[in-house]
Amino acid sequence: MASLYEIPIEQINGIGTKRGQLYRKLGIDTAGALVRFYPRAYEDWSNITSIENAQSGETVCIKASLSSPVRQAVVSGGRILATVIVTDGYSEMKIAFFNNRYISSMLRTGSEYLFYGKFTLNYNTPEMINPTFALTGASESVPIHPIYSQVAGLSTKHIEKSVRSVLDMLPETVKDPIPENIRKRYSLPPLKSVLWDIHFPKSMDEAENAKRRLIFEELLVLVLGLSSIKTLSLERSDVIIENDHTDEFLGYLPFTLTNAQKRAIDDCISDMKHNDKAMNRLVQGDVGSGKTMVAGGAAYTCIKNGYQAAMMVPTEILAQQHYQTFSEIFENTDVKVRLLTGSMTAKQKRTILSELAEGEIDFIVGTHSLISETVVFNNLGLVITDEQHRFGVRQRSQLLSKGKNPHLLVMSATPIPRTLALIIYGDLDISIVNEMPPGRQKVDTFLIDDSVRERAYGFLKKQIEEGRQCYIVCPAVENSDTGLTGVEEYTEKIRAGALKSCRVECLHGKMKASVKDEIMNKFVTGEIDVLVSTTVIEVGVSVSNAVIMMIENAERFGLSQLHQLRGRVGRGKHKSYCILVSNAKSEEARKRLNALCQTNDGFKIADEDLKLRGPGDFFGSRQHGLPELKIADLAENIEVMHEAQEASKEIMNDYLNPDCSELRSLRAEVSMLFNNVGQKLN
Ligand code: ADP
Ligand code: MG
Repeated sequence: MASLYEIPIEQINGIGTKRGQLYRKLGIDTAGALVRFYPRAYEDWSNITSIENAQSGETVCIKASLSSPVRQAVVSGGRILATVIVTDGYSEMKIAFFNNRYISSMLRTGSEYLFYGKFTLNYNTPEMINPTFALTGASESVPIHPIYSQVAGLSTKHIEKSVRSVLDMLPETVKDPIPENIRKRYSLPPLKSVLWDIHFPKSMDEAENAKRRLIFEELLVLVLGLSSIKTLSLERSDVIIENDHTDEFLGYLPFTLTNAQKRAIDDCISDMKHNDKAMNRLVQGDVGSGKTMVAGGAAYTCIKNGYQAAMMVPTEILAQQHYQTFSEIFENTDVKVRLLTGSMTAKQKRTILSELAEGEIDFIVGTHSLISETVVFNNLGLVITDEQHRFGVRQRSQLLSKGKNPHLLVMSATPIPRTLALIIYGDLDISIVNEMPPGRQKVDTFLIDDSVRERAYGFLKKQIEEGRQCYIVCPAVENSDTGLTGVEEYTEKIRAGALKSCRVECLHGKMKASVKDEIMNKFVTGEIDVLVSTTVIEVGVSVSNAVIMMIENAERFGLSQLHQLRGRVGRGKHKSYCILVSNAKSEEARKRLNALCQTNDGFKIADEDLKLRGPGDFFGSRQHGLPELKIADLAENIEVMHEAQEASKEIMNDYLNPDCSELRSLRAEVSMLFNNVGQKLN
């Protein structure tokens, strides 16, 4: 199996260079990746329905023969339309094929076929359009067909054929990544038969069985990967923190910390002082609760004990903001704070890099640039990641590996239910900042539908005339056939219409980073009145003059995410508002959105979200920074997850021992899964 990953996809029969590109688009670059490209669904041709019993709108399989020859005609746009009437012996059905000039030679009177497709009643006439079909004898021997995700130019049939030719190449015994004792204990069939069964099952039960084993395998790989990353930060730390400098730190602040902030700093310092084990702490606190100062406090004590601290954040803008904040706070101290981001010039970077390596810089704030190989620390004592859910576990551990077991502090505004936190973070300790700095205003939240949209725009205009700024968030970049509002078209529309007199700009994740930053900076400096964007702005930025957050298709977002977005306003002295626009009628959607109107407490909202929608949201949008899974679903496969965790404990020692060759292919699977963690941000 391992060697299959060494065969480039272009070398498979019938693929070649040109088709190879299409396969690569689907993320399939080797023969190994191809057999791990599981079907997205199956066509079950074994369940044959009569025309009489077929329901309009259903996808069905009907056994029938032609009652008239195929008729072919050219219709509007030069398209070829072939029609044929078939009968199952009791009733007749009309079938239409578009743009297939070979139909008349493929379908013959006197033969019996299975037609598989969507059945409709058109004014009571049974119909199918473009069904797939096969001669009865042949298709009954293989009644279940795999359906694969496709890209233009590459059919599911072609993928099916290629998968088959790779499976045919498999040797009699395939090296199984799961050790035999584990396979026996959990009744998992061997890899080779499972790969056949997931692609070409003889029954749906067989497919289910194969699926269970593959889910187990994927979760085992995930757990092993996570645990081995975690073990790194659980070792004892070489960073010795002897003195607590928090009192000094408090003296530099322009405000008094809340008790919750002080408690969280205390937690960090007591972790760092107990050097039998490196700190591994998550600070959770609602948007605006002041987590940055907790990081500042921990960093200050660490620096005063002679170490460097690094803070990694997901965007350039956020890095600049934090840099600014810390530069001001530490202005009258000997703490040297610097910034490192991708957009800096080579010369600027060189200076920073050499000062870091020399130990002249005490506190570095930066983006992903911090994990690049050229970054070397003198004596890194503390790693902080802000907005943790945006980073992959691997990126976190890459930064950690730049020190000798440094302490780790991760900060997140997304409350995670306890059970799920355990899966993601293992035995991470948690501090909760459950108190807001004094003087915060509540953001008034309204739920509206299209009927009052114009009035809502009127309200925005009035605020803008008074000098304020607004955000509008849409769920998608482009208008899609799902009917979601796309940012670009939306921006054009309001520019030409309702908000003509205002300076409106659009921002989304598909733009170049430099363009995004330029627009965001203009918003920060007040040169833009209305920023229309996707959820790219959800993370951390602070523009205190922004007072309205308007969210389109609000039902599309998780409550916690809506709450995060709302946290972008209400950051200054002006009264702020959140307007949720939704035409969703379902009671569940109304209930969720109303919950948001009624409370500003992020933890309550997270609980509510969990109750109403289950844990899917936490895993759905990759908020956790975990690798993308192919077949397992963390929310649905909790039970299998527990089994995989159990199994991983048993083989952990062997797994961590590089000399144990039995687990070589398992290790290979782990490194493949974790290879592209956290790359895909919004
Ligand atoms: P978050 O937890 O969302 O990261 P921040 O750390 O960005 O929150 O803090 C939000 C704002 O509150 C910042 O402008 C910060 O200066 C301010 N702030 C933080 N702590 C306090 C406090 N104790 N008193 C007053 N303002 C505070
Ligand atoms: Mg923050």
